[in-house]
Amino acid sequence: MSKIRMTTPLVEMDGDEMTRIIWQMVKDDLICPFVDLKSEYYDLGLENRDATDDQVTVDSANATKRLGVAVKCATITANAARVEEYGLKEMWKSPNGTIRAMLDGTVFRTPIPVKGIEPCVRNWEEPITLARHAYGDIYRNVEIRVPGAGKVELVYTGADGTEIRETVHEFDGPGVAQGVHNLDSSIASFARSCFNYALDAKQDVWFATKDTISKKYDHRFKDVFQEIFDAEYKERFDEAGIEYFYTLIDDAVARVMKSKGGFIWACKNYDGDVMSDMVSSAFGSLAMMTSVLVSPSGVYEYEAAHGTVQRHYYKHLRGEETSTNSVATIFAWSGALRKRGDLDGLPELVAFADRLEKAVIDTIESGQMTGDLARITALPNPQTLSTGDFIKAIASRL
Ligand code: NAP
Ligand code: MG
Repeated sequence: MSKIRMTTPLVEMDGDEMTRIIWQMVKDDLICPFVDLKSEYYDLGLENRDATDDQVTVDSANATKRLGVAVKCATITANAARVEEYGLKEMWKSPNGTIRAMLDGTVFRTPIPVKGIEPCVRNWEEPITLARHAYGDIYRNVEIRVPGAGKVELVYTGADGTEIRETVHEFDGPGVAQGVHNLDSSIASFARSCFNYALDAKQDVWFATKDTISKKYDHRFKDVFQEIFDAEYKERFDEAGIEYFYTLIDDAVARVMKSKGGFIWACKNYDGDVMSDMVSSAFGSLAMMTSVLVSPSGVYEYEAAHGTVQRHYYKHLRGEETSTNSVATIFAWSGALRKRGDLDGLPELVAFADRLEKAVIDTIESGQMTGDLARITALPNPQTLSTGDFIKAIASRL
């Protein structure tokens, strides 16, 4: 059999622990036998990040800007325990944080629907994609514990000396106060990422804030989205037969619960944090979620939503059998290959990505799955496979 051709390389970002083991199995058993894989390889494993003073992370993000499509394995975010475990030179920053900052992106997470792993919300027929703005608001807040009677003010001092001053509250006694901010440029990037993603997925965009109460702050989000939509996207949305609509966050929550799914829900930072955990757990499992970082300039980085599954890795190191779910990692690969095929006009590569995903779904729906799914499935008599056997079962179907 001749292998499927690629013309432009993918950026391949290898990672850590159990997902690094899975990464190699997926390449060996599911990708390389079928695709003449072209990739620019960057080893983001913690040892190599330490050896390169984290330069490899920066290089991989720059390569992604140049080539347009990356696939990333889960990586350890260093903490004090990891500094000790790996004898690190320093507590390196989160690679995802570094890459996100360099690509100025928004993260989109979508559950992977499978028969037998049913959402708790019965009317959700199609997955809901959550788009989370990942900058500002309470995640960059400044807070004070007000000790007693006194005045809290919000003061802006312009570069030219102009001043805006508002009284937050005249306190009679102790209390609390906080200051939060966001940037027009960041809100605009968020809006463009959502609209580009929607055109790609051919799905509507819902966006909601609390602008009736927050008449300047949240209202600014609403206005920036609307201005960008009207000026840059309205015609293309009409052509694609999709819609953008804005509503209040409480109305959105009520509508989401009654919806059939199948749309993109754009959320401010805090709403996205809370609602993505609700949506993903209602759909079943973190290992059954795709995750892609999309930059406003149209650069895509695909990854799994979960971490390096450390506990399973230590079992693996002790020589014990593991049953780690590789679905999110496989879908990161299929997503990146499909995008590469789209951009380079390679229908065979796109078709391969579709077949790979179908083989994964069919394997699970036939009753063969990893332990995490076997525990929650509605299918009778599920067969629990090891990490490697599950990937082999997909390969034989493929
Ligand atoms: P995790 O790796 O997502 O695992 C948490 C638990 O969820 C696991 O112990 C396992 O439960 C279950 N789980 C997650 N993925 C699974 C899969 N594919 N198959 C089966 N079960 C799965 O999160 P963590 O343990 O908090 O973090 C481990 C490391 O990952 C940390 O160093 C963290 O910095 C890093 N991390 C990286 C990313 C990223 O690169 N995107 C994201 C998050 C965390 P059981 O043990 O009960 O089976
Ligand atoms: Mg959270």
